[in-house]
Amino acid sequence: MQVINDNKCSWVNDLTPRSNVKTITSNLNCDWLIIGAGYTGLSAARKLGQIYPNQKILLVDAQLAGEGASSRNSGYLVDTTLNDGFNSNKELENYKKKTDIYKLGIEVVKKFIKEYQVECEWNECGKYFASSKIEDKKILENFSETLSQLGFKHTLLTNKEITKRLGTSFYNIALHTTGGILLHPGKLVRAMIDTLPENVKLYENSCLLSWEKSNDRVNCNFKNGSIKTNKIIFATNGFLKSLGIKKNYNFPITLTASMTRSLTDKEFESIGKPNEWGVLPVKPMGATVRMTKDRRILIRNTAEVHNPFKMSKSYLLKRSTNQNVGIKKRFPQLPNDIIQSSWSGVVSRTRNSSQIFEKIQENIFVAGCYNGSGIGVGTLFGEQIAIKASNESTDEIKIIEARSKPTWLPPNPFLDLGVKTRLIYERFRARSEV
Ligand SMILES: Cc1cc2nc3c(=O)[nH]c(=O)nc-3n(C[C@H](O)[C@H](O)[C@H](O)COP(=O)(O)OP(=O)(O)OC[C@H]3O[C@@H](n4cnc5c(N)ncnc54)[C@H](O)[C@@H]3O)c2cc1C
Repeated sequence: MQVINDNKCSWVNDLTPRSNVKTITSNLNCDWLIIGAGYTGLSAARKLGQIYPNQKILLVDAQLAGEGASSRNSGYLVDTTLNDGFNSNKELENYKKKTDIYKLGIEVVKKFIKEYQVECEWNECGKYFASSKIEDKKILENFSETLSQLGFKHTLLTNKEITKRLGTSFYNIALHTTGGILLHPGKLVRAMIDTLPENVKLYENSCLLSWEKSNDRVNCNFKNGSIKTNKIIFATNGFLKSLGIKKNYNFPITLTASMTRSLTDKEFESIGKPNEWGVLPVKPMGATVRMTKDRRILIRNTAEVHNPFKMSKSYLLKRSTNQNVGIKKRFPQLPNDIIQSSWSGVVSRTRNSSQIFEKIQENIFVAGCYNGSGIGVGTLFGEQIAIKASNESTDEIKIIEARSKPTWLPPNPFLDLGVKTRLIYERFRARSEV
């Protein structure tokens, strides 16, 4: 078991390579151990470091910290979502609970970047939910009603206005919400690594292979060493199931995305020099498309049941080719070969789109499963699970725990079969939108 990432992600490649990377090479002891150094694990470590300046806190990742989904996402810090993967949330009360959590997520990220003066290309430009199918108007009108009832500012747009704003005439109907932020996910997570408290020791390229509880302590085994800890927080998101954690309540889904090089002045002019924007699909399996501040186009249009540990080059290349088609559909005037990088990343899903935030046994805690919206929620859950594990309570914990818990999933092969069938159906429904 080893997490092997492609090294192609543009967000990661924008950053200076890290040095001074430590791996586990001996048997260690600690007060606190956090497994997984994405937004969740890094936030948990930061909080624990602040609460317990004199305790020994270890943070361990199977790959380089932050270089999993936390660097590989599309960079939408959301206040609202229309789709959580393949579920639409219809019920107002539940929807409000979900957006209450998103709101806290935005606040916690905002506080972090203000406190540490983080430059992560933060842009409060809102986001679009858009479709080329005029018949999707009904979905957006219903969504508009929900947003109005909850006081979210938004506007419904038609083709002419969308074309002016985005530089593509592909979309015929859209809803723009003013809340929500676009950012550079790699820069955000790198800042979380750089600002870890002194008493947090980070170990990377060290995959947790097995763990067991023995008396009051938890023993964790790695290839070249072990860690015995008093308390542990699992923050491995898409890899929770592979560690046997809440395994009947979550499952991994692999996504792929591509990013172009920066458009030239001439190319940018040919699409009307739009400001930075981000589009989320109306149909769950449609494409997420972003125009970045530095004129790059990002597209994510796959979500699959796949081995979360590794994707082969040829498999990724097929997805990249498909993403090129998606870009050409929206921007036929651009050249054929402008994709600079393609990558995969793993997210975690639950059946009812609720997140996991729990003490699973004495001294063992878990936070994860953000159903594809983990920038804010992961940052929030990491901080709050650290507080919960310290036997404290907060208003945030009350809001998080007011949401219903994830519901039970059947075991494999039934689960994989069910998810695959549903994804095929959703892909078919969204075939014009990829
Ligand atoms: C293509 C893509 C697009 C996305 N777009 C968005 C978006 O626009 N907005 C949004 O909010 N969210 C988005 N997401 C989801 C978001 O990236 C995740 O929800 C978020 O990264 C979760 O953070 P995390 O820290 O919980 O998990 P991760 O970032 O996945 O971190 C978990 C870490 O655990 C480590 N790990 C796993 N197994 C082990 C082990 N056995 N031992 C040690 N370490 C281990 C991994 O190496 C990884 O670094 C997207 C995800 C992808 C892949």
